Amino acid sequence: MYEIIDTHCHLDMKEFDDDRDEVIKRSRENGVRAIIMPSTMKEDFENEKSLCDEYGLLFYMVGIHPHDAKTADSEAYDLAKKHLKNKKCVGVGEIGLDYYYDLSPRDKQRDVFSDFLDIAIKNSVPVSIHCRDADDDMVDILRSKKDLKGVIHCFSGSEKQLEVGLDLGLYFGIGGTLTFKNSVLKEAIRDVPLDFVVFETDAPYLAPVPKRGKRNEPVYIKYVIEKMAEISGENPHKISKKVFENSKNVFSLDRI
Ligand SMILES: [Zn+2]
Repeated sequence: MYEIIDTHCHLDMKEFDDDRDEVIKRSRENGVRAIIMPSTMKEDFENEKSLCDEYGLLFYMVGIHPHDAKTADSEAYDLAKKHLKNKKCVGVGEIGLDYYYDLSPRDKQRDVFSDFLDIAIKNSVPVSIHCRDADDDMVDILRSKKDLKGVIHCFSGSEKQLEVGLDLGLYFGIGGTLTFKNSVLKEAIRDVPLDFVVFETDAPYLAPVPKRGKRNEPVYIKYVIEKMAEISGENPHKISKKVFENSKNVFSLDRI
Protein backbone atom coordinates (compact mmCIF):
# COMPACT_ATOMS: atom_id res chain seq x y z
CA MET A 1 0.00 0.00 0.00
CA TYR A 2 1.22 3.48 -0.86
CA GLU A 3 0.85 6.59 1.27
CA ILE A 4 -0.98 9.06 -0.93
CA ILE A 5 -2.01 12.69 -0.94
CA ASP A 6 -4.42 13.68 -3.69
CA THR A 7 -3.48 17.32 -4.21
CA HIS A 8 -6.32 18.15 -6.61
CA CYS A 9 -9.63 16.36 -6.36
CA HIS A 10 -13.09 17.82 -7.00
CA LEU A 11 -14.73 15.63 -4.41
CA ASP A 12 -17.37 18.29 -3.82
CA MET A 13 -18.79 17.86 -7.32
CA LYS A 14 -22.17 16.30 -7.93
CA GLU A 15 -20.55 13.19 -9.44
CA PHE A 16 -19.81 12.15 -5.85
CA ASP A 17 -23.15 13.05 -4.29
CA ASP A 18 -24.43 9.47 -4.22
CA ASP A 19 -21.41 7.79 -2.64
CA ARG A 20 -18.99 10.42 -1.33
CA ASP A 21 -18.90 8.70 2.02
CA GLU A 22 -17.80 5.40 0.46
CA VAL A 23 -15.20 7.08 -1.75
CA ILE A 24 -13.66 8.69 1.32
CA LYS A 25 -13.81 5.46 3.29
CA ARG A 26 -12.17 3.57 0.41
CA SER A 27 -9.50 6.25 0.24
CA ARG A 28 -8.75 6.05 3.93
CA GLU A 29 -8.50 2.27 3.82
CA ASN A 30 -6.10 2.37 0.91
CA GLY A 31 -3.38 4.68 2.14
CA VAL A 32 -4.83 8.03 1.14
CA ARG A 33 -3.87 10.41 3.94
CA ALA A 34 -5.23 13.69 2.59
CA ILE A 35 -7.44 14.91 -0.23
CA ILE A 36 -7.30 18.55 -1.27
CA MET A 37 -10.33 20.00 -3.03
CA PRO A 38 -9.81 22.99 -5.32
CA SER A 39 -12.65 25.45 -5.79
CA THR A 40 -13.83 26.55 -9.19
CA MET A 41 -16.10 29.40 -8.09
CA LYS A 42 -17.06 31.26 -4.94
CA GLU A 43 -20.18 29.13 -4.46
CA ASP A 44 -17.88 26.17 -3.73
CA PHE A 45 -16.08 27.68 -0.76
CA GLU A 46 -18.70 27.15 1.93
CA ASN A 47 -19.68 23.71 0.69
CA GLU A 48 -16.07 22.52 0.73
CA LYS A 49 -15.57 23.95 4.19
CA SER A 50 -18.57 21.94 5.47
CA LEU A 51 -17.18 18.76 3.92
CA CYS A 52 -13.84 19.44 5.60
CA ASP A 53 -15.61 19.89 8.93
CA GLU A 54 -17.19 16.50 8.43
CA TYR A 55 -14.13 14.53 7.24
CA GLY A 56 -10.65 14.80 8.75
CA LEU A 57 -9.10 13.57 5.52
CA LEU A 58 -10.28 16.56 3.51
CA PHE A 59 -8.74 19.98 2.89
CA TYR A 60 -9.74 22.73 0.48
CA MET A 61 -8.51 25.63 -1.58
CA VAL A 62 -10.25 28.84 -2.61
CA GLY A 63 -10.03 30.26 -6.10
CA ILE A 64 -11.90 30.86 -9.32
CA HIS A 65 -11.33 28.66 -12.34
CA PRO A 66 -10.45 30.54 -15.55
CA HIS A 67 -13.73 29.28 -17.05
CA ASP A 68 -15.56 31.25 -14.35
CA ALA A 69 -13.22 34.24 -14.22
CA LYS A 70 -16.06 36.43 -15.46
CA THR A 71 -17.87 35.83 -12.15
CA ALA A 72 -15.00 37.17 -10.03
CA ASP A 73 -15.97 40.25 -8.03
CA SER A 74 -14.91 41.91 -4.81
CA GLU A 75 -17.25 39.66 -2.86
CA ALA A 76 -15.40 36.59 -4.17
CA TYR A 77 -12.02 38.02 -3.19
CA ASP A 78 -13.22 38.97 0.29
CA LEU A 79 -14.76 35.56 0.78
CA ALA A 80 -11.55 33.83 -0.33
CA LYS A 81 -9.50 35.87 2.12
CA LYS A 82 -11.92 35.03 4.90
CA HIS A 83 -11.67 31.29 4.17
CA LEU A 84 -7.88 31.40 4.11
CA LYS A 85 -8.02 32.02 7.86
CA ASN A 86 -9.53 28.53 8.25
CA LYS A 87 -6.86 25.94 9.05
CA LYS A 88 -8.38 23.46 6.57
CA CYS A 89 -8.07 25.98 3.75
CA VAL A 90 -4.54 25.23 2.56
CA GLY A 91 -4.17 27.09 -0.72
CA VAL A 92 -5.51 29.12 -3.60
CA GLY A 93 -6.90 27.27 -6.58
CA GLU A 94 -7.73 26.40 -9.05
CA ILE A 95 -6.73 29.52 -10.87
CA GLY A 96 -5.09 30.15 -14.21
CA LEU A 97 -5.75 30.59 -17.89
CA ASP A 98 -7.72 28.50 -20.35
CA TYR A 99 -7.57 29.73 -23.95
CA TYR A 100 -8.79 26.39 -25.28
CA TYR A 101 -12.37 26.85 -24.14
CA ASP A 102 -12.23 30.66 -23.74
CA LEU A 103 -15.29 30.61 -21.47
CA SER A 104 -14.30 33.95 -19.95
CA PRO A 105 -12.71 36.90 -21.79
CA ARG A 106 -8.93 36.51 -21.84
CA ASP A 107 -8.17 39.87 -20.25
CA LYS A 108 -10.52 39.02 -17.40
CA GLN A 109 -8.84 35.61 -17.01
CA ARG A 110 -5.44 37.29 -16.75
CA ASP A 111 -6.63 39.84 -14.18
CA VAL A 112 -8.32 37.25 -11.98
CA PHE A 113 -5.32 34.92 -12.19
CA SER A 114 -2.97 37.72 -11.18
CA ASP A 115 -5.24 38.89 -8.34
CA PHE A 116 -5.46 35.41 -6.84
CA LEU A 117 -1.71 34.90 -7.11
CA ASP A 118 -1.32 38.09 -5.07
CA ILE A 119 -3.79 36.83 -2.48
CA ALA A 120 -1.83 33.58 -2.18
CA ILE A 121 1.50 35.37 -1.82
CA LYS A 122 0.12 37.74 0.78
CA ASN A 123 -1.25 34.81 2.79
CA SER A 124 1.87 32.63 2.25
CA VAL A 125 -0.13 29.75 0.83
CA PRO A 126 0.50 27.68 -2.32
CA VAL A 127 -1.49 27.94 -5.55
CA SER A 128 -2.88 25.29 -7.89
CA ILE A 129 -2.48 26.54 -11.45
CA HIS A 130 -4.60 25.45 -14.40
CA CYS A 131 -3.16 26.34 -17.80
CA ARG A 132 -4.45 25.25 -21.18
CA ASP A 133 -3.22 26.67 -24.48
CA ALA A 134 -2.00 29.78 -22.69
CA ASP A 135 1.63 29.03 -21.83
CA ASP A 136 3.07 32.39 -22.95
CA ASP A 137 0.72 34.52 -20.89
CA MET A 138 0.99 32.19 -17.93
CA VAL A 139 4.77 32.44 -17.97
CA ASP A 140 4.64 36.25 -18.17
CA ILE A 141 2.26 36.51 -15.23
CA LEU A 142 4.13 33.99 -13.08
CA ARG A 143 7.45 35.68 -13.73
CA SER A 144 6.00 39.02 -12.64
CA LYS A 145 5.41 37.64 -9.11
CA LYS A 146 7.78 37.06 -6.23
CA ASP A 147 7.73 34.45 -3.45
CA LEU A 148 5.22 32.26 -5.21
CA LYS A 149 4.83 28.63 -4.24
CA GLY A 150 2.52 25.98 -5.56
CA VAL A 151 1.71 23.44 -8.22
CA ILE A 152 1.32 23.49 -11.97
CA HIS A 153 -1.79 21.35 -11.90
CA CYS A 154 -2.28 18.73 -14.62
CA PHE A 155 1.20 19.34 -16.00
CA SER A 156 0.90 18.93 -19.75
CA GLY A 157 4.53 18.16 -20.45
CA SER A 158 5.03 21.41 -22.35
CA GLU A 159 8.57 22.78 -22.36
CA LYS A 160 7.48 26.26 -21.38
CA GLN A 161 5.61 25.00 -18.34
CA LEU A 162 8.58 22.86 -17.38
CA GLU A 163 11.04 25.71 -17.70
CA VAL A 164 9.06 28.27 -15.73
CA GLY A 165 8.13 25.69 -13.09
CA LEU A 166 11.73 24.66 -12.52
CA ASP A 167 12.89 28.29 -12.48
CA LEU A 168 10.33 29.33 -9.89
CA GLY A 169 10.55 26.17 -7.81
CA LEU A 170 6.98 25.14 -8.50
CA TYR A 171 5.77 21.56 -8.25
CA PHE A 172 4.26 19.56 -11.09
CA GLY A 173 0.89 17.89 -10.62
CA ILE A 174 0.97 14.44 -12.21
CA GLY A 175 -2.15 12.38 -12.69
CA GLY A 176 -4.02 10.03 -14.99
CA THR A 177 -2.76 11.55 -18.24
CA LEU A 178 0.64 9.95 -17.55
CA THR A 179 -0.93 6.57 -18.23
CA PHE A 180 -2.65 7.54 -21.48
CA LYS A 181 -1.43 5.79 -24.59
CA ASN A 182 -0.06 8.72 -26.56
CA SER A 183 0.74 10.99 -23.65
CA VAL A 184 3.66 13.38 -24.30
CA LEU A 185 4.04 13.45 -20.55
CA LYS A 186 5.74 10.05 -20.63
CA GLU A 187 8.78 11.69 -22.21
CA ALA A 188 8.56 15.00 -20.35
CA ILE A 189 8.36 13.36 -16.94
CA ARG A 190 11.98 12.23 -17.32
CA ASP A 191 13.01 15.89 -17.05
CA VAL A 192 11.01 16.56 -13.89
CA PRO A 193 13.04 16.00 -10.71
CA LEU A 194 11.15 13.72 -8.31
CA ASP A 195 11.63 16.43 -5.66
CA PHE A 196 9.11 18.54 -7.56
CA VAL A 197 6.37 16.01 -8.27
CA VAL A 198 3.00 15.84 -6.53
CA PHE A 199 0.18 13.47 -7.41
CA GLU A 200 -3.39 14.43 -8.18
CA THR A 201 -6.49 12.90 -9.68
CA ASP A 202 -8.46 15.93 -10.90
CA ALA A 203 -11.36 13.58 -10.09
CA PRO A 204 -14.01 13.03 -11.32
CA TYR A 205 -12.00 13.64 -14.51
CA LEU A 206 -8.95 11.99 -16.08
CA ALA A 207 -9.07 8.52 -14.58
CA PRO A 208 -5.83 6.65 -15.32
CA VAL A 209 -5.59 3.45 -17.38
CA PRO A 210 -7.02 0.85 -16.62
CA LYS A 211 -9.94 2.97 -15.35
CA ARG A 212 -9.81 5.47 -18.20
CA GLY A 213 -13.25 6.82 -19.10
CA LYS A 214 -14.68 5.96 -15.69
CA ARG A 215 -15.15 8.36 -12.81
CA ASN A 216 -11.78 9.01 -11.20
CA GLU A 217 -11.15 8.79 -7.44
CA PRO A 218 -8.15 9.13 -5.10
CA VAL A 219 -7.29 5.42 -4.79
CA TYR A 220 -6.56 5.30 -8.53
CA ILE A 221 -3.39 7.29 -7.92
CA LYS A 222 -1.73 3.93 -7.39
CA TYR A 223 -1.86 3.39 -11.16
CA VAL A 224 -0.03 6.68 -11.69
CA ILE A 225 2.65 5.69 -9.16
CA GLU A 226 3.14 2.38 -10.90
CA LYS A 227 3.34 3.99 -14.33
CA MET A 228 5.95 6.37 -13.04
CA ALA A 229 7.94 3.49 -11.60
CA GLU A 230 7.74 1.71 -14.94
CA ILE A 231 9.02 4.78 -16.81
CA SER A 232 11.81 5.66 -14.41
CA GLY A 233 12.84 2.17 -13.29
CA GLU A 234 12.59 3.43 -9.70
CA ASN A 235 10.92 1.51 -6.88
CA PRO A 236 7.23 2.58 -6.67
CA HIS A 237 7.34 2.73 -2.86
CA LYS A 238 10.34 5.01 -3.00
CA ILE A 239 8.51 7.26 -5.47
CA SER A 240 5.33 7.40 -3.41
CA LYS A 241 7.24 8.14 -0.21
CA LYS A 242 9.11 11.04 -1.76
CA VAL A 243 6.02 12.47 -3.46
CA PHE A 244 4.05 12.15 -0.23
CA GLU A 245 6.66 14.27 1.54
CA ASN A 246 6.66 16.82 -1.30
CA SER A 247 2.89 17.18 -1.07
CA LYS A 248 2.98 17.53 2.68
CA ASN A 249 5.60 20.23 2.39
CA VAL A 250 4.05 22.33 -0.32
CA PHE A 251 0.62 22.39 1.35
CA SER A 252 2.06 22.54 4.90
CA LEU A 253 0.04 19.51 6.00
CA ASP A 254 2.10 18.98 9.15
CA ARG A 255 -0.71 17.40 11.07
CA ILE A 256 -1.55 14.43 8.85
ZN1 LIG B 1 -9.38 20.65 -11.56
